[in-house]
Amino acid sequence: MIIGGGHAGAQLCGALAAAGMGAQVQLVCEEPDLPYHRPPLSKAYLKNAAEPLQPHRAEAWYEQQGITVHRGDPALAIDPVHRTVQLRSGLKLAYDKLVLATGSRARHLPHLPNDLVNVASLRSAADAQRLRAQIEAALRITVLGGGFIGLEIAASARAAGKAVTVLESAPRLLARSVSPELAEHVLQTHRANGVDLRLGVAVGEFEITGKRLTALRVDGYREPVEMMVLGIGAAPEHALATQAGLHCDNGIIVDAQMQTSDPHVLAIGDCASFDEHFSGRRLRLESVQNANDQARTAAATLAGRAEPYRALPWFWSEQGAMRLQMAGLMPTGSDDITRYRRAGANAGSFSILHYQGDRLACVESVNSPLDHMAARKLIETGRSPAPATACDSATPLKDHL
Ligand code: FAD
Repeated sequence: MIIGGGHAGAQLCGALAAAGMGAQVQLVCEEPDLPYHRPPLSKAYLKNAAEPLQPHRAEAWYEQQGITVHRGDPALAIDPVHRTVQLRSGLKLAYDKLVLATGSRARHLPHLPNDLVNVASLRSAADAQRLRAQIEAALRITVLGGGFIGLEIAASARAAGKAVTVLESAPRLLARSVSPELAEHVLQTHRANGVDLRLGVAVGEFEITGKRLTALRVDGYREPVEMMVLGIGAAPEHALATQAGLHCDNGIIVDAQMQTSDPHVLAIGDCASFDEHFSGRRLRLESVQNANDQARTAAATLAGRAEPYRALPWFWSEQGAMRLQMAGLMPTGSDDITRYRRAGANAGSFSILHYQGDRLACVESVNSPLDHMAARKLIETGRSPAPATACDSATPLKDHL
């Protein structure tokens, strides 16, 4: 049984079906839709009402594979002793092996009522449809938080001609995930695109009238609000796991085979906390790559093969004219880190190469997809060209493979 019909759940269905195990699979989905691609929700799907939701696979595929899909029927509780799962509809399902693929949830501000009609966050297709209508109806959008999703929404709202303000409490953008150099480029590009982007702000009290947020206090001043989007990150969805007594710490703790502290239960995707192979850090990743690759590892574990999770993390984000791509994780906490800039083919394209000692650890690319693809292979295979040659833009990065 798989709980959670997102990227990880869908990919696991694919891998199990390919292994001829489809007829043994039950997929339990909280959302009414079949598993669909989530990244477009803050990009094309948000901008264009004609853009369809992109399911991973058609309904007929699940039927052909013998996979039973329970849609719009969330799991409420796991009984790990009798190995059953209780669904909201009253159904009680038995499992031999259970995979938790419950993803993450958008964070909310603890002191803000969650029923305000002009405050939104974005996680699901239903959220995106609501947000699209709210953006269409508003002239001014306030985005709280300068993370990837907040910035993608800001770019999409600007493309729709809206006045956009982004309020970020940290002194720079994307502090947890990208280098200061890339963050500065992203900041300047959004500002050049007309986004009023403010860093290091302190957001205080909220002014609420009826069911509407009418103003915020920002650095002590009153900031009127027409419509606000919360882009303040996501928290792992591990309520079921905690209730079932699984070890959790910022996510459901898994080993390299995606096995949790219960030998009958695995966890994958945004909700799983694991020891990342390349950096040696215990972490949780919120990316399509991680969800897909962990699903493949879980499928191998379920088929009785021990194939430890060693996939290289990579990520992308689209913000207006910028396509950002990251290969590897930014090295931290060490003083032997050096960064080099490699010019791209056009004015708006470049890559930043991060070396730890003489090891290439991470490459951030802006509008340089070929650099990104080559960087993934270089880091995966442990090849580290000397920085001077790697930064020679006349030679494609792939020539160093
Ligand atoms: P999810 O895809 O979140 O799926 C989890 C599913 O579990 C959800 O459908 C949820 O409803 C369900 N669920 C939870 N609890 C229960 C329950 N009790 N019973 C049944 N079902 C349950 N990543 C990138 O790499 N690049 C991008 O450009 C990018 N853009 C993004 C844009 C947006 C707007 C969002 C929200 C995410 C984006 N991501 C992006 C992140 C990426 O989509 C996630 O990392 C990925 O979806 C994780 O897959 P998952 O299966 O772990 O979780």
